[in-house]
This record gives sequence, C-alpha cells and structure tokens, in this order.
Amino acid sequence: MKPRRVPATADTNAVEHLSSAQISAFRRALLRWFRTVKRDLPWRRTRDPYQIWLSEIMLQQTRVEAVVPYFERFTREFPTLAALAAAPEQSVLKLWAGLGYYSRARNLHRAARQLAQSHGGAVPTSASELQQLPGVGRYTAAAIASIAFNEPAAVLDGNVKRVLARLFAIDMPIDDGPVIRRLWQLAQSLLSRRSPGDFNQAMMELGATVCVPRGPRCMLCPVRKHCAAAQQGIADRLPVLSAKPAPLAVDRACIALRNQRHEWLVAQRPDRGLLGGMWEFLGVALAEAAEPAAIARAWQREFGLRPTCLQDCGQVRHQFTHRDLTLRVFSAETADRPAPRLAAHAAFRWVSREELDSLPLAKLERKVLALLPAPPAPAET
Ligand code: SF4
Repeated sequence: MKPRRVPATADTNAVEHLSSAQISAFRRALLRWFRTVKRDLPWRRTRDPYQIWLSEIMLQQTRVEAVVPYFERFTREFPTLAALAAAPEQSVLKLWAGLGYYSRARNLHRAARQLAQSHGGAVPTSASELQQLPGVGRYTAAAIASIAFNEPAAVLDGNVKRVLARLFAIDMPIDDGPVIRRLWQLAQSLLSRRSPGDFNQAMMELGATVCVPRGPRCMLCPVRKHCAAAQQGIADRLPVLSAKPAPLAVDRACIALRNQRHEWLVAQRPDRGLLGGMWEFLGVALAEAAEPAAIARAWQREFGLRPTCLQDCGQVRHQFTHRDLTLRVFSAETADRPAPRLAAHAAFRWVSREELDSLPLAKLERKVLALLPAPPAPAET
C-alpha cells in the first residue's frame, strides 16, 4: 500500500476541529476576556512565587470564596517562605484550621523547611523541580511555574477538564486514564506560549464562572464560536463522569470529658492520615441504636477512663470526601486529670476553653464544641 501523501498545505498545528488560525483566535479571545472580567483576588495582585504557591495549595478542592480570608491571614502571619519554614507545625495547622485537607498544610510546611535548608529559601522556578516538593503534583507545579515564572506548562484541574470536554465535544468519562491523558495534551496544545500564566488562569476562570457544571452560560462565552459542544447543542450533557460510589455512612460517638477545673480532655491525631496533627475529643465507633450507657462502656474500654454524669448534647453531621459522618456528642465528668490509654493518638492534654481556641481544631470539632455545656458562671462575691 502506498503511503498517504500529506498535502503541502496541511495545518500541522491544528488541534482536532480547530485550525492553527482558529487556535490563535481562541487564545486572543480568551485572554482579552480574562483581562477584562477577571476577579480581583489577593494572589492575583502579586508575582511572589511563595504566595502564588500558597494560593494554589489552598485552592485545591476548595472554593475561592473560602480561601480568600485564609490566604490573607496566612500571608499576614507568614509573609515569606522563611517565616513559614521557621514556624512550629502547630501554628501552621492552627491557621489552616477549618480549611480542611490538613495534609496540604503539613506538606507545605515540610516543603518550606526543605527549601529553607537546601535551596537558599527560594521557590524553584521550573515545573519539574516544583513537582519534587511534598504536596506539589503536576497541576500545582504547572500553575506556579506558569503564573510566577511564565513557563509554558498547561494546567488541568476540574474546571479546565470540563471546558476542554465541551470545546472538543468529548463524550467519554473525563476521569478515565486515557481521556485524562488526551485532555493534558489538548490543554498543552491550546496554551498560549506568550502568556501561559494568564492563559491557564483564564481557562480556570472560564470554567468557574461561565462554563459552569450545570447550565453553561454559552451566550456569554468568549470562545463560543470555537466550541464543538455549543455548535452541536450538547453543552449541558457534557462532561461525562464515571458513576462514583455514594459516600459511606459512618456513625460514631464522642465523649467530651471535663474535670472539676473545667478543663476538657483532647487528644492529637497522628501526623499521617485524615486530619493528621489536629486535636479532637475522644470518640468510638457506634453500634446502631446504642444506648448512652453502652456508649460510655465502649468508651471506657477504649480509653481506660470512666466517664460519669453522662449528658447527651445532641449530634453533628460532617461530610468527608468518602464518608458521611454522624457523630453523637456527650459530655461527662471526672474528678482530676487522669491519663487516657491512647492507641491511635499522638498526645493528650487537659485544656481550658480558652486554650482549646488556641489549638488546631478541625471544623468537625468546632461543631462539637458548640454543643458542649458552658462552665458555670463564677459565684458572685
Ligand atoms: S460555549 Fe458554552 S460549553 Fe462551550 S466553552 Fe463556552 S460556556 Fe462552555
């Protein structure tokens, strides 16, 4: 069979249905739009690679509106990488408390210490070096390298995946390995070499504000004329996602033990794993419909302490990535400051209500705290 001849006019830079001229027009339209409508966010007012890195870590799986106040507090407290590296881990976790996914904070801190020791305290300038740091994956490395150092490295997050799936009318699950590889290639092919940082941010901004998951706002879209899904009228049917298992329902009970000095018993979770390094009230797995007395016995078996005057304070619900937790909350009393038997925790402390506020507590523990009885008011003299 004769080899197929490539016509002399073949557009070798075309990407699927887009010719190289259309890709240039796409980049221009997207960048023009972004520079006009972009949201004023604190990390967009700086070129400091440390702050851009911090913002990218905070933004992982977290909404922009939730990140802004955390970013502002964090950069006030730790304005430089050196300041972060010098801080104790507990101070870092305390500032992160409530933002979730605490391994991000621990990895960021470890990376800052690593760089302070071996890199003269400077943030690496290339995506490949950045990817060597704890907690920095391909997406984060590309975001930092492109925004802070203008490296032409494309990003692919949930927003960009959705935009690309629609632009190229990809009707296969976008969380499948081969499709993800194709999406990375498409993102890299579309990327503006001249303004990679703005282009990456523009793709993410388009996904966050116009090409939204439900009801894409195609009439307002700056790249509508290049979009295959809009032309085919199938934008609201894309992207296709694989069916995910429903989160596992988990029932637990915790007993907040208080002594006669009005101090609460709290324990610190081990460094690794869910909520690593954070402090919490001690809890046990709950058998269905367990009576308070049975819960107290199970708690005593686990921690070696006998709770007395058990009081039912209610329950809290909390959603983790793969778990839907219902936590029954009890308070109880003890005379002095006994030491619990701990198998799965790193440390314990007896702390006043004020000291509790200075510890890194996850959102779940704040919900528990809100249900606990206040200490009695001091007697009038
Ligand atoms: S035209 Fe519609 S579907 Fe296509 S990229 Fe724009 S918002 Fe998304």
